[in-house]
Amino acid sequence: MIASTDNNNTMKAAVVVAAGKWEIKQIPIPQTTKGQVRVKVMACGVCYSDSMIVSGRVGPIFPRVPGHEIAGIVDALGEGVTKFKIGDRVGVGFFGGGHCGECTDCLSNSWVTCKSVGGCGISFNGGFAEYTVAPQDALSRIPDEIDFLQAGPFCCAGVTVFNSIRNQGLRAGDLVAVHGIGGLGHLGIQFARKLGYEVIAVSSGDDKEQLAKELGAHHYINSTKPDVVGRLQALGNIKLIMCTAPAKESVELLSKALGFNGKLLLLAIMKELTINPLQLISKNQSVVGSYCGDSRDTEDTLKFAANQNIKSMLQVYPLEQVEECLNNISKARFRAVLKIGDF
Ligand SMILES: [Zn+2]
Ligand SMILES: [Zn+2]
Repeated sequence: MIASTDNNNTMKAAVVVAAGKWEIKQIPIPQTTKGQVRVKVMACGVCYSDSMIVSGRVGPIFPRVPGHEIAGIVDALGEGVTKFKIGDRVGVGFFGGGHCGECTDCLSNSWVTCKSVGGCGISFNGGFAEYTVAPQDALSRIPDEIDFLQAGPFCCAGVTVFNSIRNQGLRAGDLVAVHGIGGLGHLGIQFARKLGYEVIAVSSGDDKEQLAKELGAHHYINSTKPDVVGRLQALGNIKLIMCTAPAKESVELLSKALGFNGKLLLLAIMKELTINPLQLISKNQSVVGSYCGDSRDTEDTLKFAANQNIKSMLQVYPLEQVEECLNNISKARFRAVLKIGDF
């Protein structure tokens, strides 16, 4: 175990020194430059996509400190920072800020797809450390009601789920199915319920029914029992199926239960899917993806979660156990989060 931050301007960090190779070590505390904010990290969620970052599959230059579900306190301000002050409680998600404000995407209000935007924990060091530095447009305010451990996962998993549902043009009372009750799905059920939809949880086995209903699902469908499509269609005209589990056959089967104008919303990464075009055409259906969201979306997510009392189910680890935590991430129930600061 390495001592915590000392007076030599160094900090403890979990560093990926080469693809797949971790070291817990002391590195210099980062300094702000123009427009940047330094955040004292209190907690940082561990996301499934961190495993792709650590393996080098999505292209960070090593050494790199991953971590893009950051919750902390503003600790230093670079020149020109106007939106935040020292002591503010803030989050940083996968959206790493630095949007140009001038490209066609920015002008269409899509900061997240701007080519100038960096990925937190990919193009700059992220939150698996005692401090991180990010552009001010990457930061979101955390409401007082939400503690740091809860706030972290809302900055990636939470905003991914919330943004994906709220942007589909549904009406209150519409029938929404959530496939999978894991890290994303357990949030999807809660957000869909609080957004005012009639919610169906779909998962394998009977053992998850009680939890699904506690999270807010009105209905539960066991996908291992016969006639899944018929049982789903019996509940009504399904307008949205949120797919959070990378289970190709299940997703293909569920797509057959979509109603008129229904959308198959993909949040899980699968190599390929086979969907019948005639079904899409004849029922005016679509298959849609949804990227995470920017810092404004994250701030909306945090506010909505505070107002509606939405909570992630968490497994908490110390920073030193990040490798073990990530190795088990696909088996983790719900969200994993590193407790880094003293609180
Ligand atoms: Zn993530
Ligand atoms: Zn831009």
